[in-house]
Amino acid sequence: MPFIITDPCIETKDTACVDVCPVDCIHPRKDEPEFAQTIMLYIHPEECIDCGACVPACPVAAIYESIDATPAHQKDLVEANAVYRNGDADAIAKAHVAAQADLMAIPAAERQAAHARF
Ligand code: SF4
Ligand code: SF4
Repeated sequence: MPFIITDPCIETKDTACVDVCPVDCIHPRKDEPEFAQTIMLYIHPEECIDCGACVPACPVAAIYESIDATPAHQKDLVEANAVYRNGDADAIAKAHVAAQADLMAIPAAERQAAHARF
């Protein structure tokens, strides 16, 4: 079961998780052409080995340990993580931003703590 990046990554996107992932399954990296325009990073669900190294590395606690652990209002981003290579993950993430305006108004560093209230 893959780890999932959620909305505190939007506006943060600092790649700290990429630096610690042992199987290089978090994309896009800074050296990939998509990095400049993507609004967040995504974990490839089939490449992730569930090691957990990325969770403490994330400064805004954006990464959940499983689909089941991901809050219901972040489930659209489960899909965004899943389709990154084969679909328009950023379109899903941008739709999430539009649909979750109240949540996204909270600073990224405080947003994960607010997930429980939404
Ligand atoms: S859980 Fe491990 S393998 Fe999966 S994205 Fe995080 S660091 Fe990479
Ligand atoms: S460490 Fe967190 S905020 Fe930074 S890119 Fe990874 S998921 Fe996004």
